[in-house]
Amino acid sequence: MAYLEPAPIKDKENPFESMMSRFHTAAHKLGLDDETYEILKSPTKQVIVTLPITMDDGSKKVFEGYRVIHSNTLGPSKGGIRYDPDVSLDEVKALAAWMTWKCAVVDIPYGGAKGGIRCKPWTMSAGELERLTRAYTVSMYEIFGPDLDIPAPDMGTGPREMAWLMDEYSKANGKTVSAVVTGKPLVLGGSLGRVEATGRGVMVSSLVAMEKLKINPAHAKCAVQGFGNVGSNAASLLEDRGVKIIAISDHTGAYISEKGIDIKAAIEFKNKNNGTLEGFELGDKISNEELIELDVDLLVPAAKEDVITLKNAQNIKAKLIVEGANGPTGAKADPVIFDKGITVVPDILANAGGVTVSYFEWVQNRLGYKWTQERVNRRCDRIMKDAFEKVFKISEKYNVSMRIAAYMVAISKVADTYKLRGGY
Ligand code: NAD
Repeated sequence: MAYLEPAPIKDKENPFESMMSRFHTAAHKLGLDDETYEILKSPTKQVIVTLPITMDDGSKKVFEGYRVIHSNTLGPSKGGIRYDPDVSLDEVKALAAWMTWKCAVVDIPYGGAKGGIRCKPWTMSAGELERLTRAYTVSMYEIFGPDLDIPAPDMGTGPREMAWLMDEYSKANGKTVSAVVTGKPLVLGGSLGRVEATGRGVMVSSLVAMEKLKINPAHAKCAVQGFGNVGSNAASLLEDRGVKIIAISDHTGAYISEKGIDIKAAIEFKNKNNGTLEGFELGDKISNEELIELDVDLLVPAAKEDVITLKNAQNIKAKLIVEGANGPTGAKADPVIFDKGITVVPDILANAGGVTVSYFEWVQNRLGYKWTQERVNRRCDRIMKDAFEKVFKISEKYNVSMRIAAYMVAISKVADTYKLRGGY
């Protein structure tokens, strides 16, 4: 193996470099050959588009949009679309690669992709966002398709944007093409169970991991960072299973109560409070940084990237970290956490419930059929448990973290498939 080590990671971790450093370690453990290493690390396609949009005041504003297809070896590529001012080609490239590994870990027949538009969605009207989404769809018409590349929501986008995307793509096709996108509203072919799927997968992973670590959920304390789709659903489902959630947070701050926070009440508060926890009184206010270092059994980072870093890794007291967010732990923090004996269920496994139910949505759209919520949950739980066991076994066999084990499972699956399909 002659491949060079990736460039050292700087203080503020670049998400692509962070992903590459794990890829590199796992590829080494597997003894991956040089050619396959080069092929798997390189994105298949990177598209940048310019989107001039008429704003409500009549002015024209130019936005930049991206779509990166990291791999289509296992099948059509799959991945969300992010609207955020921090969107960059590097971020989208990392997120696209994570999707490749995530789909491979849970063994669903998709490659990985991601898209994004650099914008501040919260400053834009619904009309401006609709024009932006439709313009992006038209620009990506050649890229998207139910057998080619299937987008989904990510930060800053949701069922509303997916409905516009589906409609614009369908118009160009002269027929309704529901399966071009997942995460749609239910009435447009969305799947029951999709909204809570990622949080549910986090809950399932947490319970299986607690069983391995002999932590009794009924006596476990948990802190959840982020109270959006993933965090609030994970907290609520964990609460249903007896786990005491002592701290929750969002971008306005963190809230702690040693006797446990009533998560259903917190969700109700958030829904009536413009979607935020600002002013939440069922817990004392602490900072998001303090939440990460709380003395809990289970820590669920479910907000954003790079919240567990070299700076705070040494202070983490949780026995188990289950990554709801993508990339919450920087690569530099990995060895510190591993040496402390903390078990981490990595993002590409822990938050794969979302893409799994997206896959179910696509299957249902193609069959013209609707599954019950019970069927969706049962199948998703089984896939999550099987993937967990597979990764856990590899981590024990090679004495590596579950993160490196998950990359090893994913890389060997994509590499084997690539070799069977063959190249030019
Ligand atoms: P969301 O927009 O619904 O919620 C994000 C939450 O994080 C909000 O409560 C927000 O206030 C909070 N937040 C933002 N900045 C914060 C900060 N600095 N400190 C603490 N909290 C902060 O997003 P989501 O869909 O829940 O996604 C959260 C993470 O999970 C992202 O990394 C996303 O890529 C990942 N993810 C989401 C899904 C999904 O199905 N939604 C699937 C896989 C992975």
